[in-house]
Amino acid sequence: MKPFVPQLIYIEPGALEYELGRELKQKFEEMGLEIRETTSHNQIRGIPGDNELQQYRNAKSTLVVGVRRTLKFDTSKPSAEYAIPLATGCMGHCHYCYLQTTLGSKPYIRTYVNLEDIFNQAQKYMDERAPEITRFEAACTSDIVGLDHLTHSLKKTIEFIGQTEYGQLRFVTKYHHVDHLLDAKHNGKTRFRFSVNSRYVIKNFEPGTSSFDERLEAAKKVAKAGYPLGFIVAPIYLHDEWKEGYRELFERLSDSLEGIELPNLTFELIQHRFTKPAKKVIEKRYPKTKLEMDEEKRKYKWGRYGIGKYVYQNEEAAEMEQTIRGYAQEYFPNSEVSYFT
Ligand code: SF4
Repeated sequence: MKPFVPQLIYIEPGALEYELGRELKQKFEEMGLEIRETTSHNQIRGIPGDNELQQYRNAKSTLVVGVRRTLKFDTSKPSAEYAIPLATGCMGHCHYCYLQTTLGSKPYIRTYVNLEDIFNQAQKYMDERAPEITRFEAACTSDIVGLDHLTHSLKKTIEFIGQTEYGQLRFVTKYHHVDHLLDAKHNGKTRFRFSVNSRYVIKNFEPGTSSFDERLEAAKKVAKAGYPLGFIVAPIYLHDEWKEGYRELFERLSDSLEGIELPNLTFELIQHRFTKPAKKVIEKRYPKTKLEMDEEKRKYKWGRYGIGKYVYQNEEAAEMEQTIRGYAQEYFPNSEVSYFT
């Protein structure tokens, strides 16, 4: 998988007041990319494409360089206290992706250049909670690693959090372009997680992301660079022979990480879920998807803003949890399962 290169760049004029905004403009000019100016991301018109589907695909390779105006961070349970907003949107095409609903009609990628404002805000949150640790999640609204080879804003965030007393950072990725992050001064305060899944799920539902083997190679590099490592097994999906599929995943993980020191390795387990609005969007954007989203077979769970989600039935979820926790224990006895949800 090659590193992401946008087809089209929009730059908000406000972004050029920041050093990173100017740097990115120059970089993209040197790369020979098409750059357009826009007054605000809400005014982006004319993403090319003959129909909605084409426009959607093109939007996913459009990068908007902008300024983050809202500096109130969202909460990010259960893995962190706050979502730190570095970017929104993603170049990947995972059918089940939660961004289908959260970003709705604006699937282009936005990166924010006013990092100092964002770091100042993060510092305020840390001060409020001190001496409690405050954890920030950097991958709530994008796959930040997939973009960071261009912007290095994640790298700067890792180093910012590295020198704080009460901060921790975490993010998750399906991309393997981690080389520039290996020498970041993380001070052990950033947990680097990779999203992994059974062969079936990766093959059928995760186009446009790095292969499992590429992610594993990257995980090894990251562990050797001293980052606390984690894996998020998500979404756990009940396909035919899922038990064998997930066992194989743990076998491959354990074979490949053999001999590498992994103090406090963590696993986070998230079962597949969908909302009604997401289902509609997914069926439109990936009309041939094999992703099973039959409300009748699922359990309805009330959610925020009145949009409930469909999760697996209690017995299925319990079996799933027990099975995957069992594999984690069997293959990585010193690891910890942080949660199943
Ligand atoms: S890599 Fe993550 S954020 Fe990107 S499309 Fe896939 S699930 Fe969504």
